[in-house]
Amino acid sequence: MTYKMAEANNRVIPVEDKIFGINQKAKEMAAREGAGKVVNATIGSLLDDAGNLVILSSVVEVLKNLTPIDYADYAPIAGTPDFIKSMKRAAFGSYVPKGYTEAVATPGGTGAIRNTIQNYSKRGDQILTSDWYWSPYSTIAQDIERSITTYTLFDEEGRFYAASFEGKIKELLAKQDGLVIILNTPAHNPTGYSFTLEDWDKIIKIVKDAAADSSKKITLLVDVAYLDFAGDEEEHRKFFPLLDDFPPNILVVVAHSLSKSCTMYGMRSGAMICITQDKEIADEFKTVCSFSSRGTWSNCNRAAMATISSIYADEELLAKVTRERQAFCQMLLDRGNAFAKAADEAGLKTVPFQAGFFVTVPCENADAVGLELQKEGIFAVPVGKGLRVSVASVSEEKCKMLPAAMKKAIDKVNG
Ligand code: PLP
Repeated sequence: MTYKMAEANNRVIPVEDKIFGINQKAKEMAAREGAGKVVNATIGSLLDDAGNLVILSSVVEVLKNLTPIDYADYAPIAGTPDFIKSMKRAAFGSYVPKGYTEAVATPGGTGAIRNTIQNYSKRGDQILTSDWYWSPYSTIAQDIERSITTYTLFDEEGRFYAASFEGKIKELLAKQDGLVIILNTPAHNPTGYSFTLEDWDKIIKIVKDAAADSSKKITLLVDVAYLDFAGDEEEHRKFFPLLDDFPPNILVVVAHSLSKSCTMYGMRSGAMICITQDKEIADEFKTVCSFSSRGTWSNCNRAAMATISSIYADEELLAKVTRERQAFCQMLLDRGNAFAKAADEAGLKTVPFQAGFFVTVPCENADAVGLELQKEGIFAVPVGKGLRVSVASVSEEKCKMLPAAMKKAIDKVNG
């Protein structure tokens, strides 16, 4: 694409956002033929069985009781102290990491990802993530003149492919002084995979080996956007204690988002939290990330900060929010499990799925299969080597019937 006034700055900007385009087609068909004829599995937000956005009423109650100063005033660039304290608890649960954990407020997980790439890689660097990945990683990287490269997430048996991860790290560190590695777990988007503690042991060994050369700097960006929708909240935080025994040249940055955890998608709130055993590196983290915030969005949404601070200051209220979220999490797990069971019965292969908003079905010619499904009123998003199905946005009943329809469409297109 050539621009008239804008500069390309090495970015490849699609004419239309793919997900938005397919979602639009689903809406048009629903308007034309009735909502009952359409299964819109494109949406990345949790919807109830009637298709309405799930909103935690316990969070809304707090929001409604904010004072004008809570939403009218500026917040400090790095976030209010109470918010920072609350976000550490929101991320780590009852675990208190050893060492230093500085944090900076961000507009959702997106802001945390952006600030990490900006500050811990150089212009032109490649950022490593898995071959199945959330496409905005590439948008964020490109927008600040970096790019994404990938390792193969699963081996033939559907297990974490540690050798591919290791090989790619070695290859990149042979040509770069530093490396940002993005790990999206638990309940990875788009596959629904959560790294096991055994996977984590392998990851940690590989990263430590790679950092044995102290001239290399590695940043492990752990994107936990789906942390509270992965199943048991304590269980899925068990990997955190494995992350606080790194040498100074490995920095952990946890990107946490309130979009899903507190159904605050539109309020744009989250935080980036570092874990390091070196105080100077933690202080530097706060300084450089605050600087980047000032130079992009400035400060973040104060009302969201006040809401989270109120919730974490009141154990009863926190328990209420947690209970309400857990019920919706169970609804989501039931849908994912219903899809997985029906996929087994229909002989439909899926990428290893455990929990979360999405299931991915690997297939050749994903775009053509997607179009074939649309003829049946089923809308899913082609993502690289397969189709992403949002179990977050369709009922359990629809999750049960989708796999057979998908198998039929795949067989029709690919023979
Ligand atoms: N990371 C992943 C993998 C996501 O899917 C999302 C949201 O869809 C995010 C991070 C962060 O989103 P937000 O910026 O809305 O918090």
